[in-house]
Amino acid sequence: MSLFQEIALASGDKYSQPLGLFIDNEFVASSNGSVLVTTNPATGKQITQVHAADPGKDVDKAVKAARKAFKPWKSVPITEKRDLFLKLAQLVKENTQLLAQVESLDSGKPLHTNAYGDIDGVVQTLTYLAGWIDKTSGEAFSPSPGKLCYTLHQPLGVVGCIIPFNYPLSMMSWKWTAIATGNTAVFKSAHQTPLSILVFAQLVVEAGFPPGVFNVISGEGGTVGDALVRHLGVDKIAFTGSTKVGQLVQSHAAVNLKPVTLECGGKSPLMVFEDADLEEAVKWAAFGIFHNMGQICSGTSRCFVQESKYEEFLTKLAAHVTANFPLGSLLGEDIVVFPQITKAQQERVMSFIDSGIKEGCRVVLGGTGLPEVIANDAVLANGYYVRPTILADVKPHYKIAQEEVFGPVLAVGTFCDYDDALRIANDSQYGLGAGIFSQDIKKCHEFADEVESGMVWINSSNDLDFHMPFGGVKMSGHGRELGKYGLLNFTNVKAVYVNMCKL
Ligand code: NAD
Repeated sequence: MSLFQEIALASGDKYSQPLGLFIDNEFVASSNGSVLVTTNPATGKQITQVHAADPGKDVDKAVKAARKAFKPWKSVPITEKRDLFLKLAQLVKENTQLLAQVESLDSGKPLHTNAYGDIDGVVQTLTYLAGWIDKTSGEAFSPSPGKLCYTLHQPLGVVGCIIPFNYPLSMMSWKWTAIATGNTAVFKSAHQTPLSILVFAQLVVEAGFPPGVFNVISGEGGTVGDALVRHLGVDKIAFTGSTKVGQLVQSHAAVNLKPVTLECGGKSPLMVFEDADLEEAVKWAAFGIFHNMGQICSGTSRCFVQESKYEEFLTKLAAHVTANFPLGSLLGEDIVVFPQITKAQQERVMSFIDSGIKEGCRVVLGGTGLPEVIANDAVLANGYYVRPTILADVKPHYKIAQEEVFGPVLAVGTFCDYDDALRIANDSQYGLGAGIFSQDIKKCHEFADEVESGMVWINSSNDLDFHMPFGGVKMSGHGRELGKYGLLNFTNVKAVYVNMCKL
């Protein structure tokens, strides 16, 4: 039985056909007949294939559909828009199991410990955005008698939304801010994970969104993604992905000076002071890097501990990770660590571990070999697994402490005092998140003020709230998603002057 026959069965035959490109509320074939093969990272086996967009004709078709839908969508009363978002959130909630299964299969996420949570996040995001739709407004004031000034927050037009593989539906839902603010959108899914967004697209139709408001094109980034970035009919690009591609996106978007928001890579530090609650620091340090198989942009992938607590921290961390981050079969209820997205990524992560060892790191946990539970399993042995790995005695300048691995690898080293900790934390090209563990609230606030990052976690790591802006500084990108500030990135603020005096 094919995946989509299974989906059809699971959904009582309601959702059964999503293999095409999704344009104007319809699934259509690629105009050049090309396809994208998608693979289950847990087994290395092909799942299915989807149509891949022609970078010329199909990208243009999707952009034109979004353009045609823009004015009518902009004119839809805000209460109607809000209700559509609420309906969509409800449909996602009702179809959690189906969406989570597809997400798990396509991205290699553990079903119970990751994928269900992701779908819940989509429901929350859409509901949160619905709450903003009827509450956003400009400002009005009268600077002098006979003069009125006001601002309008207007949609930009057609937004190209480019999403990564690590949270396919979550990252997509954050970019629904574009649609909530009155824009129409063309979404380009990651080539490794094209499936869940196509299942979701059927819910968009069922919720009653007009044709052309939400379109999806599958395909490779360098061709299809780039065509979207360069398209003159696109008014803004909202990109989430690697820093390297972010740089290309920013330069190619200059073709019509379209604004870009870039949510890029990171190498977020977690600084553990000797006055910290060590048990808590250990739990958050593990969560901050080993959740989602280490494929977390804001993952605290380098951790520095004040010298006096260093060895105790390492011993406790290794014990905690061994007990709480097991590898195993796809649907296991307590499985937390799962495969990397592709064979190439598995090899890349392994080579980072090797480079750390060569530079002088001590392997406290994990390493490059596969655990027996995977290596001896006929099905799983072909998956792209990496063990949760802790490398100790890392110096801040080591490659493993400077470059984004994007896998389950934690680099751990030491610092001596606050100034040393701050210097190490800021010694990075990236600036996405930063964490501090200490009982001294003054020190924590000083760190929050002085660390170069878009987000700071005091006594936690990778905390997330939809009310708060998400994004980074330096090579982690610019612009924000979520929260009130996220909405501003998708609108043009127009200044209107009303003169009521004679010259
Ligand atoms: P990637 O940069 O390889 O791809 C991201 C998206 O860009 C994909 O859809 C891809 O097809 C597309 N793309 C690739 N080349 C392109 C081009 N030349 N023009 C236009 N689009 C192109 O990233 P990835 O491997 O999918 O995701 C991992 C990266 O994403 C990591 O670096 C991670 O830190 C980052 N990320 C950042 C955030 C954030 O919010 N800051 C969130 C998730 C992931």
